[in-house]
Amino acid sequence: MVIIMKLEASEKDVEKVKERIELHGCKPYLIYGTQKLAIGVTGPTTQLDEEDFLIMDSVQEALRVSKKYKLVSREVKSEDTIIETGGQKIGGENLTIIAGPCSVESRQQLFDIAGPLKEMGIRFFRAGAYKPRSSPYVFQGLKSKGLEYLSDLKKELGMIIVTEAKDTETLNDVAAVSDIIQIGARNMQNFSLLERAGDLKNPILLKRGLAASIEDLLMSAEYIVSQGNFNVILCERGIRTFETYTRNTLDLNAVPVIKELTHLPVFVDPSHGIGIWDKVPAMSMGAVACGADGLIIEVHHKPAEALSDGYQSLTPKNFKKMLAKIEQLCPIVDKKIQLVK
Ligand code: PEP
Ligand code: MN
Repeated sequence: MVIIMKLEASEKDVEKVKERIELHGCKPYLIYGTQKLAIGVTGPTTQLDEEDFLIMDSVQEALRVSKKYKLVSREVKSEDTIIETGGQKIGGENLTIIAGPCSVESRQQLFDIAGPLKEMGIRFFRAGAYKPRSSPYVFQGLKSKGLEYLSDLKKELGMIIVTEAKDTETLNDVAAVSDIIQIGARNMQNFSLLERAGDLKNPILLKRGLAASIEDLLMSAEYIVSQGNFNVILCERGIRTFETYTRNTLDLNAVPVIKELTHLPVFVDPSHGIGIWDKVPAMSMGAVACGADGLIIEVHHKPAEALSDGYQSLTPKNFKKMLAKIEQLCPIVDKKIQLVK
């Protein structure tokens, strides 16, 4: 259920509504829009009666939410969620570009890649310190040392750090360094990790699982949001299909569909989606044309020497060419690219 308060509702009125919700063993969530306050309700809501709320002077509307996911649904909040981190805004009219290597490989490697990206106006920098790999015999990431290097990069270059949390054990260490915590495709339904991420304040970039439906993705976001962390970004990164020519099948259908169903920002990762570096620009343009709120792109200064995902990584030079085209596309889709120049 969602309860929409009247414009003139006071704090005391809101308290009264919350008390009534809690009386029936349900949980209230305050969701602030630009004008009105909505109170999302989860729990055994069948025990609640809309009329018990409508009778209160401060309540404008009380509605049942038809979807399985509640708090992430547009039924509960019609306006786009805007997330603020590192002095930048994500969602709404903003197009956010996150770039960087798949993995942290060394301190020098991070600076060699971040330097040219910063000159292009990129502030959001990705690189995994903890890497969930399909094979136990390949590079698993520099782990805590990698976090240290990312922290240096943040201090020295002012980059906004996006890095992956692989498990609940290392989540707090990752949270201490990252401005945005990535939860990867393989962990999209690691419910303990989702719940713990929901206890944090850091925005969470939640990637779609390899065989997850749009509804599965939204239900996973609901796990995080229902713990109290509303700063969730959803990310389409390709799904498994019968096609083997490309690494995954980037499901661009998901972008307009998810944006209609939820108020959360929707990003696209064309690097993992297609897995072939010279096709990444085409899919990035496609993603922006579809209404994506952001892109996360793998960039490496020496792709042939990368310890992971070199084949899908753009060099800074090729990335720059792509960025210029994306900038041109933005006005057509009413987006403002967030570059710091
Ligand atoms: C990554 O971003 O490098 C990564 C491992 O992504 P995904 O979880 O989408 O495979
Ligand atoms: Mn990768």
